[in-house]
Amino acid sequence: MPSGLTVEVNGNTARMRGTDHWPPRCAALTGKLGEQVACGIYEWRPSPCREFEEGSEACHRARAKVGLPPLPEA
Ligand code: SF4
Repeated sequence: MPSGLTVEVNGNTARMRGTDHWPPRCAALTGKLGEQVACGIYEWRPSPCREFEEGSEACHRARAKVGLPPLPEA
């Protein structure tokens, strides 16, 4: 992963740049929220991103924070 996309938290942990800003926006995210977005490092995305489930309660909360409705039921 390009080092410019991350910020070191401590010697063992880093976070994606932009995720502690308000509104949060990961530096690897491309596109426009509410229209079309994509992860620019999808193949190399970190484990929290791999574990995040589309349509989960956490997904609904994250969408609500930026004014988006929950995803429709599959
Ligand atoms: S999935 Fe990609 S764009 Fe989304 S937070 Fe993770 S690294 Fe950033």
